[in-house]
Amino acid sequence: MITDVPTSQEFYTSAEKLLCLAWDSAAGFFVHLDEFTSQVGPDDVEEDQYWAAAQTNLLNAFVLLQQAAEFFLKSEICSVSPYLLIKNDPSKWPRSDAGNGVPFSKFRTVDAEDLLKIHSVACATQLNDDLRRELSDIREIRNRISHTVDSSLRLTALEIVTTTLRLSHAFSSGRAWIEIAKRHIDAPFANLYGNDDNNVGVARQLESVLKRLAPADTLKYFGFNNRARAYTCPGCYFGSDWSEWDYSPEFAQLTPLRSSKAKNVHCIYCGETSSIVRRKCTTADCLSNVISTEHDACLKCMRTQ
Ligand SMILES: [Zn+2]
Ligand SMILES: [Zn+2]
Repeated sequence: MITDVPTSQEFYTSAEKLLCLAWDSAAGFFVHLDEFTSQVGPDDVEEDQYWAAAQTNLLNAFVLLQQAAEFFLKSEICSVSPYLLIKNDPSKWPRSDAGNGVPFSKFRTVDAEDLLKIHSVACATQLNDDLRRELSDIREIRNRISHTVDSSLRLTALEIVTTTLRLSHAFSSGRAWIEIAKRHIDAPFANLYGNDDNNVGVARQLESVLKRLAPADTLKYFGFNNRARAYTCPGCYFGSDWSEWDYSPEFAQLTPLRSSKAKNVHCIYCGETSSIVRRKCTTADCLSNVISTEHDACLKCMRTQ
Protein backbone atom coordinates (compact mmCIF):
# COMPACT_ATOMS: atom_id res chain seq x y z
CA MET A 1 0.00 0.00 0.00
CA ILE A 2 1.22 3.51 -0.82
CA THR A 3 0.88 5.92 2.11
CA ASP A 4 1.09 9.71 2.55
CA VAL A 5 -0.15 10.32 -0.96
CA PRO A 6 0.02 14.06 -1.76
CA THR A 7 -3.13 15.89 -2.82
CA SER A 8 -3.68 18.28 -5.68
CA GLN A 9 -4.34 21.05 -3.14
CA GLU A 10 -1.02 20.42 -1.36
CA PHE A 11 0.93 20.79 -4.61
CA TYR A 12 -1.11 23.88 -5.46
CA THR A 13 -0.49 25.58 -2.09
CA SER A 14 3.24 24.79 -2.29
CA ALA A 15 3.35 26.27 -5.80
CA GLU A 16 1.72 29.50 -4.57
CA LYS A 17 4.20 29.77 -1.69
CA LEU A 18 7.13 29.28 -4.06
CA LEU A 19 5.78 32.03 -6.33
CA CYS A 20 5.54 34.28 -3.29
CA LEU A 21 9.17 33.58 -2.32
CA ALA A 22 10.29 34.50 -5.85
CA TRP A 23 8.16 37.68 -5.86
CA ASP A 24 9.33 38.62 -2.35
CA SER A 25 12.96 38.39 -3.44
CA ALA A 26 12.59 40.37 -6.68
CA ALA A 27 10.10 42.99 -5.47
CA GLY A 28 12.17 43.39 -2.28
CA PHE A 29 15.05 44.68 -4.41
CA PHE A 30 12.74 47.33 -5.88
CA VAL A 31 11.61 48.36 -2.38
CA HIS A 32 15.17 48.77 -1.07
CA LEU A 33 16.19 50.67 -4.20
CA ASP A 34 13.20 53.03 -3.92
CA GLU A 35 13.76 53.66 -0.20
CA PHE A 36 17.45 54.40 -0.70
CA THR A 37 16.77 56.59 -3.74
CA SER A 38 14.19 58.62 -1.80
CA GLN A 39 16.77 59.21 0.95
CA VAL A 40 19.81 60.19 -1.12
CA GLY A 41 18.33 61.27 -4.47
CA PRO A 42 18.69 59.43 -7.81
CA ASP A 43 22.10 60.91 -8.69
CA ASP A 44 23.78 59.09 -5.80
CA VAL A 45 22.46 55.62 -6.62
CA GLU A 46 24.80 53.17 -8.38
CA GLU A 47 21.95 51.20 -9.91
CA ASP A 48 24.02 49.05 -12.31
CA GLN A 49 26.23 47.82 -9.49
CA TYR A 50 23.19 47.22 -7.30
CA TRP A 51 21.59 44.95 -9.91
CA ALA A 52 24.87 43.19 -10.71
CA ALA A 53 25.25 42.29 -7.03
CA ALA A 54 21.63 41.06 -6.94
CA GLN A 55 22.14 38.53 -9.77
CA THR A 56 22.66 35.44 -7.59
CA ASN A 57 19.47 36.22 -5.65
CA LEU A 58 17.54 36.78 -8.87
CA LEU A 59 18.80 33.52 -10.39
CA ASN A 60 17.72 31.71 -7.21
CA ALA A 61 14.32 33.38 -7.44
CA PHE A 62 14.02 32.03 -10.97
CA VAL A 63 14.74 28.48 -9.75
CA LEU A 64 11.81 28.93 -7.35
CA LEU A 65 9.61 29.94 -10.28
CA GLN A 66 10.51 26.74 -12.12
CA GLN A 67 9.72 24.68 -9.05
CA ALA A 68 6.40 26.51 -8.70
CA ALA A 69 5.55 25.80 -12.36
CA GLU A 70 6.39 22.12 -11.82
CA PHE A 71 4.14 21.97 -8.74
CA PHE A 72 1.24 23.65 -10.58
CA LEU A 73 1.50 20.98 -13.28
CA LYS A 74 1.72 18.25 -10.64
CA SER A 75 -1.31 19.70 -8.88
CA GLU A 76 -3.41 19.43 -12.04
CA ILE A 77 -2.08 15.93 -12.86
CA CYS A 78 -2.69 14.89 -9.26
CA SER A 79 -6.33 15.92 -9.53
CA VAL A 80 -6.67 13.15 -12.16
CA SER A 81 -4.52 10.67 -10.20
CA PRO A 82 -1.45 11.18 -7.98
CA TYR A 83 -0.15 7.80 -9.20
CA LEU A 84 0.50 9.33 -12.64
CA LEU A 85 3.42 11.08 -10.94
CA ILE A 86 5.19 7.84 -10.00
CA LYS A 87 7.78 6.61 -12.47
CA ASN A 88 6.33 3.54 -14.13
CA ASP A 89 9.12 1.04 -13.51
CA PRO A 90 8.08 -1.39 -10.73
CA SER A 91 11.51 -3.07 -10.77
CA LYS A 92 12.89 0.15 -9.23
CA TRP A 93 10.07 0.77 -6.79
CA PRO A 94 11.04 0.74 -3.09
CA ARG A 95 10.31 -2.38 -1.08
CA SER A 96 7.33 -2.42 1.22
CA ASP A 97 7.97 -2.71 4.96
CA ALA A 98 5.82 -5.57 6.16
CA GLY A 99 2.37 -4.21 6.78
CA ASN A 100 3.38 -0.54 6.92
CA GLY A 101 3.17 0.30 3.26
CA VAL A 102 5.51 2.67 1.42
CA PRO A 103 5.31 6.48 1.65
CA PHE A 104 4.70 8.19 -1.69
CA SER A 105 7.84 10.31 -1.21
CA LYS A 106 10.04 7.19 -1.41
CA PHE A 107 9.00 6.52 -5.00
CA ARG A 108 10.94 8.02 -7.87
CA THR A 109 8.63 10.48 -9.56
CA VAL A 110 8.45 11.33 -13.25
CA ASP A 111 11.06 13.65 -14.74
CA ALA A 112 10.24 17.33 -15.01
CA GLU A 113 10.52 17.26 -18.81
CA ASP A 114 7.72 14.66 -18.98
CA LEU A 115 5.20 16.68 -16.97
CA LEU A 116 3.90 18.65 -19.95
CA LYS A 117 3.27 15.45 -21.92
CA ILE A 118 1.56 13.75 -18.96
CA HIS A 119 -0.55 16.85 -18.41
CA SER A 120 -1.61 17.03 -22.03
CA VAL A 121 -2.60 13.32 -22.12
CA ALA A 122 -4.22 13.06 -18.70
CA CYS A 123 -5.87 16.41 -17.97
CA ALA A 124 -9.17 17.59 -19.42
CA THR A 125 -8.12 21.26 -19.55
CA GLN A 126 -5.29 21.85 -22.01
CA LEU A 127 -2.56 24.46 -21.60
CA ASN A 128 -2.35 26.97 -24.43
CA ASP A 129 0.69 27.00 -26.73
CA ASP A 130 2.15 30.22 -25.26
CA LEU A 131 2.07 28.78 -21.75
CA ARG A 132 3.58 25.44 -22.86
CA ARG A 133 6.39 27.33 -24.59
CA GLU A 134 6.98 29.50 -21.53
CA LEU A 135 7.08 26.49 -19.20
CA SER A 136 9.66 24.80 -21.46
CA ASP A 137 11.74 27.99 -21.55
CA ILE A 138 11.58 28.32 -17.76
CA ARG A 139 12.83 24.74 -17.35
CA GLU A 140 15.64 25.31 -19.85
CA ILE A 141 16.83 28.48 -18.05
CA ARG A 142 16.55 26.75 -14.68
CA ASN A 143 18.82 23.95 -15.97
CA ARG A 144 21.41 26.52 -17.06
CA ILE A 145 21.28 28.08 -13.59
CA SER A 146 21.45 24.80 -11.69
CA HIS A 147 24.01 22.86 -13.69
CA THR A 148 26.64 25.38 -14.60
CA VAL A 149 27.95 28.89 -14.02
CA ASP A 150 26.79 30.87 -17.02
CA SER A 151 27.99 34.46 -16.77
CA SER A 152 26.06 35.38 -19.92
CA LEU A 153 22.78 34.66 -18.17
CA ARG A 154 21.34 37.86 -16.67
CA LEU A 155 17.88 38.16 -15.20
CA THR A 156 16.08 41.30 -14.12
CA ALA A 157 13.82 41.66 -11.10
CA LEU A 158 11.09 42.77 -13.49
CA GLU A 159 11.38 39.45 -15.39
CA ILE A 160 10.95 37.57 -12.09
CA VAL A 161 7.94 39.69 -11.17
CA THR A 162 6.21 39.41 -14.55
CA THR A 163 6.87 35.65 -14.78
CA THR A 164 5.39 35.28 -11.28
CA LEU A 165 2.28 37.15 -12.37
CA ARG A 166 1.92 35.13 -15.60
CA LEU A 167 2.22 31.79 -13.76
CA SER A 168 -0.22 32.89 -11.07
CA HIS A 169 -2.67 34.13 -13.68
CA ALA A 170 -2.37 30.89 -15.67
CA PHE A 171 -2.88 28.49 -12.79
CA SER A 172 -4.71 30.27 -9.98
CA SER A 173 -8.21 30.28 -11.51
CA GLY A 174 -8.76 34.02 -11.30
CA ARG A 175 -7.63 34.50 -7.70
CA ALA A 176 -6.07 37.93 -7.27
CA TRP A 177 -2.30 37.92 -6.88
CA ILE A 178 -2.50 40.48 -4.06
CA GLU A 179 -4.61 38.10 -1.96
CA ILE A 180 -2.16 35.26 -2.61
CA ALA A 181 0.83 37.48 -1.76
CA LYS A 182 -0.77 38.87 1.41
CA ARG A 183 -1.66 35.38 2.59
CA HIS A 184 1.83 33.96 2.22
CA ILE A 185 4.26 36.90 2.45
CA ASP A 186 2.75 38.94 5.27
CA ALA A 187 1.33 35.92 7.12
CA PRO A 188 4.43 35.13 9.23
CA PHE A 189 4.60 38.78 10.36
CA ALA A 190 0.90 38.80 11.15
CA ASN A 191 1.69 36.04 13.64
CA LEU A 192 4.11 38.43 15.34
CA TYR A 193 2.19 41.67 15.12
CA GLY A 194 -1.40 40.45 15.17
CA ASN A 195 -3.59 42.24 12.66
CA ASP A 196 -2.25 41.49 9.21
CA ASP A 197 -3.69 44.75 7.88
CA ASN A 198 -0.91 46.48 9.81
CA ASN A 199 1.81 44.76 7.84
CA VAL A 200 3.16 46.77 4.99
CA GLY A 201 5.53 44.31 3.29
CA VAL A 202 3.29 43.47 0.35
CA ALA A 203 1.95 47.05 0.16
CA ARG A 204 5.46 48.46 -0.25
CA GLN A 205 6.27 45.80 -2.84
CA LEU A 206 3.08 46.56 -4.73
CA GLU A 207 3.90 50.29 -4.79
CA SER A 208 7.36 49.59 -6.19
CA VAL A 209 6.12 47.07 -8.76
CA LEU A 210 3.13 49.07 -10.07
CA LYS A 211 5.30 51.96 -11.19
CA ARG A 212 7.62 49.64 -13.13
CA LEU A 213 5.11 47.38 -14.86
CA ALA A 214 3.76 48.13 -18.33
CA PRO A 215 0.25 49.67 -18.19
CA ALA A 216 -1.21 46.60 -19.93
CA ASP A 217 0.19 44.40 -17.15
CA THR A 218 -1.05 46.55 -14.25
CA LEU A 219 -4.48 46.44 -15.85
CA LYS A 220 -4.42 42.71 -16.57
CA TYR A 221 -3.02 41.51 -13.26
CA PHE A 222 -4.25 44.16 -10.80
CA GLY A 223 -7.13 46.00 -12.47
CA PHE A 224 -5.07 49.16 -11.95
CA ASN A 225 -4.47 51.84 -14.58
CA ASN A 226 -1.04 53.30 -13.83
CA ARG A 227 -1.65 56.10 -16.33
CA ALA A 228 -4.64 57.38 -14.37
CA ARG A 229 -4.61 59.25 -11.07
CA ALA A 230 -4.60 57.16 -7.89
CA TYR A 231 -5.59 57.96 -4.30
CA THR A 232 -5.04 56.55 -0.84
CA CYS A 233 -7.77 54.12 0.16
CA PRO A 234 -9.57 55.46 3.27
CA GLY A 235 -10.37 51.89 4.37
CA CYS A 236 -6.70 50.83 4.29
CA TYR A 237 -5.41 54.07 5.81
CA PHE A 238 -7.88 54.69 8.63
CA GLY A 239 -8.68 51.04 9.24
CA SER A 240 -5.11 50.13 10.19
CA ASP A 241 -2.02 51.66 11.78
CA TRP A 242 -1.03 53.17 8.44
CA SER A 243 -2.51 56.54 9.50
CA GLU A 244 -0.31 56.61 12.63
CA TRP A 245 2.76 55.85 10.54
CA ASP A 246 1.73 58.41 7.92
CA TYR A 247 2.01 55.62 5.33
CA SER A 248 -0.34 56.42 2.48
CA PRO A 249 0.25 54.35 -0.65
CA GLU A 250 -2.11 55.13 -3.52
CA PHE A 251 -3.91 51.95 -4.55
CA ALA A 252 -7.41 53.39 -5.06
CA GLN A 253 -8.84 54.80 -8.27
CA LEU A 254 -12.09 56.49 -9.20
CA THR A 255 -14.96 54.36 -10.43
CA PRO A 256 -15.69 55.07 -13.18
CA LEU A 257 -12.10 56.01 -13.93
CA ARG A 258 -11.37 59.69 -14.64
CA SER A 259 -15.06 60.58 -14.27
CA SER A 260 -15.89 63.95 -12.72
CA LYS A 261 -19.15 62.33 -11.59
CA ALA A 262 -17.46 59.39 -9.83
CA LYS A 263 -18.91 58.77 -6.38
CA ASN A 264 -16.53 56.01 -5.29
CA VAL A 265 -12.92 54.90 -5.25
CA HIS A 266 -11.99 51.23 -5.52
CA CYS A 267 -8.84 49.93 -3.81
CA ILE A 268 -6.89 47.07 -5.38
CA TYR A 269 -5.07 46.32 -2.11
CA CYS A 270 -8.08 45.60 0.12
CA GLY A 271 -10.65 45.14 -2.66
CA GLU A 272 -13.07 47.59 -1.00
CA THR A 273 -15.03 50.45 -2.55
CA SER A 274 -15.39 53.71 -0.57
CA SER A 275 -17.64 56.67 -1.24
CA ILE A 276 -16.20 60.09 -2.05
CA VAL A 277 -17.40 63.61 -2.81
CA ARG A 278 -15.75 65.96 -5.28
CA ARG A 279 -14.85 69.05 -3.29
CA LYS A 280 -11.69 71.13 -3.28
CA CYS A 281 -9.33 70.11 -0.47
CA THR A 282 -8.96 72.83 2.16
CA THR A 283 -5.21 72.23 2.61
CA ALA A 284 -3.38 75.21 1.11
CA ASP A 285 -0.86 73.37 -1.07
CA CYS A 286 -3.10 70.45 -2.08
CA LEU A 287 -4.82 70.53 -5.47
CA SER A 288 -6.98 67.44 -4.97
CA ASN A 289 -10.74 67.36 -4.92
CA VAL A 290 -11.41 63.77 -3.87
CA ILE A 291 -12.70 63.68 -0.29
CA SER A 292 -13.69 60.58 1.67
CA THR A 293 -17.35 60.82 2.66
CA GLU A 294 -16.95 58.64 5.73
CA HIS A 295 -13.76 60.24 7.11
CA ASP A 296 -14.12 63.75 5.65
CA ALA A 297 -10.45 63.53 4.63
CA CYS A 298 -8.68 64.35 1.37
CA LEU A 299 -7.45 61.15 -0.30
CA LYS A 300 -4.27 62.86 -1.57
CA CYS A 301 -2.90 64.75 1.45
CA MET A 302 -5.00 62.71 3.96
CA ARG A 303 -5.80 65.84 6.01
CA THR A 304 -9.19 66.11 7.70
CA GLN A 305 -11.29 68.84 6.08
ZN1 LIG B 1 -7.90 49.60 0.63
ZN1 LIG C 1 -5.64 67.41 0.15
